[in-house]
Amino acid sequence: MNIEQNVALGRLTTVGIGGPARHFARPRSIDELEEALRWAEAEGLDVFTIGLGSNVLVADEGVDALVLRLDGELAAAETRDDLLVAGGGAANAVCLHRTRAAGLGGFEFACAIPGTVGGGVRMNAGAYGGDWRAILERALVVSVETSRWRSPDELGLEYRRSALEPGEVVARAEFRLTPKPEDEIKATVAELQAQRKAAQPTNKRTFGSVFKNPEHELSAGRMLEAVGLKGHRIGGAQISPRHGNFIENAGEARAADALALMAEARRRALEEFGVELVHEVRFVGGLELPPAGESL
Ligand SMILES: Cc1cc2nc3c(=O)[nH]c(=O)nc-3n(C[C@H](O)[C@H](O)[C@H](O)COP(=O)(O)OP(=O)(O)OC[C@H]3O[C@@H](n4cnc5c(N)ncnc54)[C@H](O)[C@@H]3O)c2cc1C
Repeated sequence: MNIEQNVALGRLTTVGIGGPARHFARPRSIDELEEALRWAEAEGLDVFTIGLGSNVLVADEGVDALVLRLDGELAAAETRDDLLVAGGGAANAVCLHRTRAAGLGGFEFACAIPGTVGGGVRMNAGAYGGDWRAILERALVVSVETSRWRSPDELGLEYRRSALEPGEVVARAEFRLTPKPEDEIKATVAELQAQRKAAQPTNKRTFGSVFKNPEHELSAGRMLEAVGLKGHRIGGAQISPRHGNFIENAGEARAADALALMAEARRRALEEFGVELVHEVRFVGGLELPPAGESL
């Protein structure tokens, strides 16, 4: 198993922000994955698995850990009868392609989620009324201690969260789908993509939703729009002028810029609505937000 040093991790994220991973590996099989996990344990290193980096903000200083990106058979996808069987590193776009070609419906909601199967399990990704929990049959979770298939209940899948711990890697997953004509799948996908294009920034470098939607009549995006943050810029990071719950890398943004914007958003939401916004984006490296109400 080849362990690379100082790999530019920010470049492996959709927002394109952040420093290097001190150690980096691309396991291509369960054996290689287990070998990498054992190596990290022997070195006393934390492990972070990255998918397509579409919900991740990496610290400017990078991260002193072993970062894994699944590859090879752990990033492949195929259908078997009415199951989608995929590696944790398989891109949603590839999965959608395979299911459409096999005439299997149920994965269409993921057409606008630019991540992987494993990232989807970790985040219980969802859109347009669908989510991983609704279609996931089971996932093979590998850690340095065990390798075990888990059901959605055992994974603790809830709104944009799971019970997975940092050293636990989703190596494979199986989804139960339903037969659906290819044309209908295509039409649904086209409609969902049009809806997405009309409402959210596309062709911008972002990490998806910044905050989870609070239990409030307003979504996080509407709330941040109401407090006048659309288009607000700190350094190279800006709250999207199109949607209040997205931060765009508008130039040479640093993680510190994005973090300062998030702190400001939390301060204003607390002041105006009494709501403590909770971030959805995952932090990598030593990033931390101040208590709600405080600026950075
Ligand atoms: C333009 C845009 C639109 C988006 N729209 C949506 C949306 O509609 N709905 C939605 O839910 N999300 C959305 N997202 C967020 C993001 O795409 C999802 O959270 C996605 O599931 C993350 O997948 P990923 O592979 O990129 O994971 P990453 O962002 O790389 O990682 C996210 C988390 O998952 C963990 N992880 C990744 N792979 C594994 C693995 N194999 N095993 C264990 N843990 C793993 C990481 O450690 C991290 O904690 C959007 C993002 C962007 C940029």
